Amino acid sequence: MLVVMSQQATSEEIDAVVAAIQAKGYTARLIPGGERMAIGILHNKGAVDASHFLGLPGVKDVIPVTRPYKLVSREFQPEDTIIQVGDVAIGNGHLTLIAGPCAVESEAQCLNIARKVQRAGAHLFRGGAFKPRTSPYSFQGLGEQGLKILTQVREATGMPIITEALDTETFGLVEAYADVIQIGARNMQNFSLLRRAGRSQRPVLLKRGLAATIEEWLMAAEYILDGGNTQVILCERGVRTFAHHSRNTLDLSAVAVVCKESHLPVIVDPSHAAGRRDQVIPLSRAAIAVGAHGLMVEVHHAPEEALSDGAQSLYPEQFEVLCRQIQSIFDVFHPSHSVKPEETRNA
Ligand code: PEP
Ligand code: MN
Repeated sequence: MLVVMSQQATSEEIDAVVAAIQAKGYTARLIPGGERMAIGILHNKGAVDASHFLGLPGVKDVIPVTRPYKLVSREFQPEDTIIQVGDVAIGNGHLTLIAGPCAVESEAQCLNIARKVQRAGAHLFRGGAFKPRTSPYSFQGLGEQGLKILTQVREATGMPIITEALDTETFGLVEAYADVIQIGARNMQNFSLLRRAGRSQRPVLLKRGLAATIEEWLMAAEYILDGGNTQVILCERGVRTFAHHSRNTLDLSAVAVVCKESHLPVIVDPSHAAGRRDQVIPLSRAAIAVGAHGLMVEVHHAPEEALSDGAQSLYPEQFEVLCRQIQSIFDVFHPSHSVKPEETRNA
């Protein structure tokens, strides 16, 4: 339930409503809007009786929330969330491009790729230091050494870095190095990891699970917001279906639904959806056309030698083509807002 205060409500009136909510044993969460303050009621076990709050001074309306997720929903916050990472804005009106290898392999590899993707238009650099691999015999990532390499990339290029935190044990380590923390598809419902991310000051990119419904995905994001971290970026990366023509099936309809349901930015990872290079550019075009706020794409200077996900990694020249094409598509929908990669970098 959402208590909407009138525009003229005083801070004493707001405090009194918060106290009335807490007196019932619920949690009150202030949700400042462009025009007015709203107060969300959370952690209620059963239905909330609106009449307790309707007559209080300064209260304009009490709105029932119909969705199981609350803080992530547009019912709680109609305005889009824009997440600022250094000079880069992620969310409505901004096209955000994240690119880099699947895994950090060496300093030379990362710097080489970073310079190329930055020249092409990438805003953030990605690379896994802790890798969730299907086989325990596959390359597991360089760990802290990989995180150090990522910070060297940030120093050399100015690009913020995004990397995955695999578990609660290493979350703090990743948090100390990364600008954005990724929670991977396999961990989407790792609730202790989500709770830990909720206590972080860093933005979190939350990937959709391999077989997660949209509701489960948004409920996972709700855990992070419930913990106090409102900086969540959702990432659709394909779900498992009967199809074998791609590694996963990119669920673009989910992007349209989530943009409607939630105020959080939504980006698309066409690489893990496709699992093969030749589908990445077409899927990227479609993702931007359907309304995604950005893309996360795997790029490698020598994919045939990559220690992870080489088959789906674009050559840097292909990433350049992708950037040019999707910028034109993005401009169709956001002609007045669009920010060119150059402007963003130099802002
Ligand atoms: C990744 O981004 O490198 C990754 C492992 O992604 P996902 O969790 O979507 O499989
Ligand atoms: Mn990968």
